[in-house]
Parts: sequence; C-alpha cells; structure tokens
Amino acid sequence: MNIIEESLKLMSEGYICNNCLGRQFAQLLSNTDNKSRGNAIRSFIAMSIDSGQKFEFDIQNLSEFKFNNQDLDVKIKKHKKCYMCLGVFDKLNKLTNKIELKMAPFKFDTFLVGTKLTKELGDIEEKIWDMVGFDYCETMKAEVNREIGKKLSKKLNKNVDFLNQNLIVLIDFASNKIEVKSNPLFIFGKYKKFGKTSYSKNKGIIEKFVIDSILHESDCSKFCFHGMGYEDEKTRCLCWRPFILKIFEPKNMKINLSRLQKEINKNDMVKISSLRFSSKEELMDLKDRKFDKTYMICIKLKNPIDNTNLDKLYALKDVIQRSFRNKLKTKKIKIIEYQIINNKKIELKIKVESGFRIKNFVNGDSKPNIEVLLQNNASIDSIDVLKLSWCKNG
Ligand SMILES: [Zn+2]
Repeated sequence: MNIIEESLKLMSEGYICNNCLGRQFAQLLSNTDNKSRGNAIRSFIAMSIDSGQKFEFDIQNLSEFKFNNQDLDVKIKKHKKCYMCLGVFDKLNKLTNKIELKMAPFKFDTFLVGTKLTKELGDIEEKIWDMVGFDYCETMKAEVNREIGKKLSKKLNKNVDFLNQNLIVLIDFASNKIEVKSNPLFIFGKYKKFGKTSYSKNKGIIEKFVIDSILHESDCSKFCFHGMGYEDEKTRCLCWRPFILKIFEPKNMKINLSRLQKEINKNDMVKISSLRFSSKEELMDLKDRKFDKTYMICIKLKNPIDNTNLDKLYALKDVIQRSFRNKLKTKKIKIIEYQIINNKKIELKIKVESGFRIKNFVNGDSKPNIEVLLQNNASIDSIDVLKLSWCKNG
C-alpha cells in the first residue's frame, strides 16, 4: 500500500477533511489522532507540489496552503464541505455544547458516547473502502464517538469509561436527537431492624428510613430492593442483614455514602452499616446465595402447655411447606430449642434452611406445625432474626 497514492485517490473525489483522510490510516502510529495524520499527509503532498511535482487530484484539497514556488494559492478558492463526512467533524463543537446542556441535570463522574450515523454516511464510507481498501482504517462512528468523548471530557472534567459509566450519551444523526441516560446505581449495605411498628400501610421501616433516604439523595424514584428474602414488618432483625438497592435513572450518582449512613443511623428503628457502591455482578451473586436463618420466636398458647408434647419438638428434623410457586417442598430444621416462659408461653430458638417460612410453621399449613405438635392453639408474640449464616455450597 502506498499512502500517498491512496491519499491522492481520496483527494480526487473532491474535498476530504483531515479527519476523514487520516482515518483511512488510523492504525498507523499510535500516539497521534486522525486529524494530525490527515494534516501530515496533506502537508507532504502540498510540499511535494511546491517542489515541482505534478499530481492528479482535486486542488481544492490544498486550499489552506500558501506556496512559495508555485503560483497555486491564488487559484484555489475556499474548499467545499468534505464529501465523506458531509461536514460532521466541523459540527462537533456545536454538537458538544448541546450535549453538555443535556448532561447538566446529572451529577456524575464517568460517561460513554454512542452514535448512530445516517445511512448516507454509511454508504459513502463503504464506497471509499471499496476504492482504497480498509487495511489501516477505522470506522467513522468510532472516531465520532471518541472525538465527542474527548471534547466532553475536557469541558466537563469527567472521564470516558467503557465498562462502568454513570451516563450514556446517544446521538442520532438522522433525527438530530440527543439522549442522555443514567445507568442504574447499585448500593450495598447491611441493616439491623429494631422497630416493629409499620409507619403506614404501604411503607415499612426499611423503606421509610433507608430506601427513601437513598432515593432522595440520588434524586430518583424508581428502585428495586434485594434483601435476601422476605421479612415482614413485625419481625425484628437483630443481626446484620445484607441488601442491595438498585436505583433506576438516578440524577445524582455522586452520593456521599458515609455521610448518608450517619444520617440514616440517627433514628432508633433501624441501623445500617457497610454502605458502599456495588455492581450488577454482586447483586446476581447475592441473589444466588443460600443461607440458614436462626430465629427466636415467642409463642402464646391458648391452653396450658402439655410438657409431653413439647419434647416432640426435639425430634423434628424437617417440615413440608408450600413454596411461593405452590409446590410442596421439604424444608430442614437444623437446630430447635425451647424455653418455657410461663404455662401459656414458650420461646423457641430455631435454625432453619433458606426459604423456610417461619410464621407458616407456627400456625399455617406447614406439615407438621406447632399447633399440631403441641395440640394447642398457637399465636406469634414476636419474631426476631438472630443470625444469618452463609451456605458456601448453596
Ligand atoms: Zn470529513
């Protein structure tokens, strides 16, 4: 491949800008850009002409030069629009200003630019590759994305990130539309829940004190809370329970989590720890994990306790419960201990496998349940989660 011959071919089709000319040789040298490559080739050709060499090409490609030895500059008028990009690279500064306005409502650190060029530009690019080949070229789309990214990065003092970006900027050249979207934020934390009172019918303690605070800080309203299973409002959680909050379309991605954690912990109902940014991968991992739970349940009985029935609890190894999909499943009890509080009240410490439905075990359709075992009407006075233990193989 002869760079000058190929460049002259490109210059014979009309005026081609430095970006489009240099882009055909984008894979030659790495510490430069296409505009500089194009300028170097054009300058070399212009100097060759000034030294007396003759070439066949469209002379408007040299309109920016003043020649010392040839009487050419007076004949060349200002060049027309680049026949390849149709002036896209001349418009990038203006376009960047528009994008900057669209990004203004967001607080972020990283972003990525994606573009959809017009069909016309795609067709022109293919024609050029048919003519000069594509041994060292790159696509116009890749250069447009990179150049806009560089300009925005410099203006806003933010970084382009290909893997974990806060914002995505999408530019559609056909419709002239610019869309700026924020990627979901994942926030990991652990909580302990002491309060038992529901604040309203629809809002629980965790939602009121933890989720709402994080949503307010991130300036958004859509979320998905993953808290390792279901825990109702009357249940206290006395051990640290991990959670990941996925926030959709946040406006603020620069949240000071340690300050937020201190703010949340000012209440007495719930405490949080280890608040930090997380990822989709960590969420998948958390959702896949299985864990044993240890509960302390206080059970009230309608009639006085029959001690002979109580010993049946120790023999209990598993129960059959209905799963959420209505299938019957055997769920294991790993430890069960009781303590008599008075003749109508017992306290049960029980360690069960993941997915065990504790309330169901007291007086629901569990087979057997506490009511059946004790031959007594049983109701729950309180439930506390004492411990969560990871099952490494689960
Ligand atoms: Zn061009």
